[in-house]
Amino acid sequence: MKILLAEDDALSRTLLQRTLQRAGYEVAAVEDGCRALAELSKEDPPRLALLDWIMPGRDGIEVCREVRRRKDHAYTYLILLSSRETKQDIVQGLESGADDYLTKPYDAEELKARLRAGERILELEDRLVEARESMRFQATHDLLTSLWNRGVIVELVSREMVRSRREKWCNAVMMCDIDHFKKVNDQNGHAAGDDVLREVARRLQTSVRSYDMVGRYGGEEFLVVLNKCDPSSAVARAENLRNAVAAKPILLSTKSLTVTISVGVALTTDFPNRDADDILHAADMALYAAKEAGRNCIRLAQPGTLPPAPEAPHAESPVLISHK
Ligand code: GH3
Ligand code: MG
Ligand code: MG
Ligand code: MG
Repeated sequence: MKILLAEDDALSRTLLQRTLQRAGYEVAAVEDGCRALAELSKEDPPRLALLDWIMPGRDGIEVCREVRRRKDHAYTYLILLSSRETKQDIVQGLESGADDYLTKPYDAEELKARLRAGERILELEDRLVEARESMRFQATHDLLTSLWNRGVIVELVSREMVRSRREKWCNAVMMCDIDHFKKVNDQNGHAAGDDVLREVARRLQTSVRSYDMVGRYGGEEFLVVLNKCDPSSAVARAENLRNAVAAKPILLSTKSLTVTISVGVALTTDFPNRDADDILHAADMALYAAKEAGRNCIRLAQPGTLPPAPEAPHAESPVLISHK
């Protein structure tokens, strides 16, 4: 494990460095507080630091305070080393953000034991961060496919629509639904159905650019949002998605199976002054039209297919289709 050692006295530094190396640490040794902070700001910095209190430039106390001010770094376990040993000194040292305090002259065995205690704290910290990340992932992703879950993808549609209106570009919202998926379950079992869902999700995800978004909208429905989409190429891009699913059979444990999707596409520029719910509704109606047309195809939502928006009654032609 890497450790930072900051000590201005050359002899003490060399002795400490040797002790630490013998204990198995990879030591970065520096002679003042500024260099200590520079080491701790590097990429993949040491997570353990042994800091002398009195050093030229910035002292150990200042280094502790500065490290604790940073919020965007992994936790660093800080041990202050000093010949000041009154209770007041120890309190001041710990109050500055040090995790531990060791008085000079130090005992090598005690130092090593305290470092091991520090490592245990860091391990705990790592496990907490991992658990938090995992909870965050679970709260935002669909567990079966690892795509964005419905709540998140709908929120992203809303957010991207605000941005695209401001920047005057077009987003394509694509509602993709697996055709006759009930049959896949009925004929192959629910577990095989799950495998198909995972593979369709993977194919959709790998068919879009990194700044496009794919989410699981419902059981066998996926929502794809293409950002900055040229309206004239939207149908071709939906066709890519359709083809990515249909072109190659999906390998299941006992056989392979070809599945297809139908896609309803709504372009945000075709529905000015409409909110995300309306765009999703328009994409859903286009999907319905694709199903009606025989499935395994694309349909583009036509402006004018939504009921008029209350705040902009003349924005689109008043063709009313009660579908919501
Ligand atoms: P259509 O072409 O009209 O879309 O027909 P469909 O059979 O795909 O549509 P329908 O809505 O009748 O059936 C969807 C099926 O998807 C029913 C449901 O059991 C299945 N399903 C939903 N979620 C899951 C899931 O997580 N795993 C599996 N295996 N099946 C699911
Ligand atoms: Mg000193
Ligand atoms: Mg379906
Ligand atoms: Mg469906």
